[in-house]
Amino acid sequence: NTFSNLGLNEKIAKSVAFVGYTEPTPIQVEAIPHLLAKKDLLGSAQTGTGKTAAFALPILQHIYESLDFTKPRKIEALILAPTRELATQIGENFTKYSKFINIKNTIIYGGVSQKKQEEALRKGVDILIATPGRLMDLMEQKIVKLDHVKYLVLDEADQMLDMGFIKDIKKIISHIPKERQSMLFSATMPKEIEKLATEMLVDPVRIAV
Ligand code: AMP
Repeated sequence: NTFSNLGLNEKIAKSVAFVGYTEPTPIQVEAIPHLLAKKDLLGSAQTGTGKTAAFALPILQHIYESLDFTKPRKIEALILAPTRELATQIGENFTKYSKFINIKNTIIYGGVSQKKQEEALRKGVDILIATPGRLMDLMEQKIVKLDHVKYLVLDEADQMLDMGFIKDIKKIISHIPKERQSMLFSATMPKEIEKLATEMLVDPVRIAV
């Protein structure tokens, strides 16, 4: 298997080769074709399986194929993650995979001044990676608008549940158009996550690795 065989375009395949990936991991092989076909996905996967690229590469390809560079950038993809560390890793990965395409991401998380995060948002981004608490703050201040989001990812959903973010997550999702592709990843599938998955995913493909 190669990244190109999974349906990824030349520029994205080139970026993963540049990062040093020689072949896709099992979750990438299973998930990427469905995600390129715009299916929703429920993934039971731990960190270390390559799940970030599994969702990031199809999102980048969708945005790349539809982006109108003459228009101001609007947030097209939202990735929610439990911690600053995970959000930062996800953002770094998106940046690497965007090496040969002009798609921008930014990361927002709490515990630091929001000024730089605000500036980055004002310049315009296609992809936002956020922890739920800070995102709620910025939404309440009308600094972030999610009315153009077409791709939604909840990463490490069980951890977000343990950290008490479920209410925030539901509130955030209520501001995102229903016409979207949604992905939920979780290492474990407690009842509350299954319930959230039923509420936010439409006819999802289920993948366990
Ligand atoms: P993740 O599970 O997304 O946190 O990824 C775990 C690690 O595997 C990260 O360091 C990735 O850069 C790396 N990785 C992801 N996909 C591949 C691949 N196809 N080949 C080699 N390394 C990969």
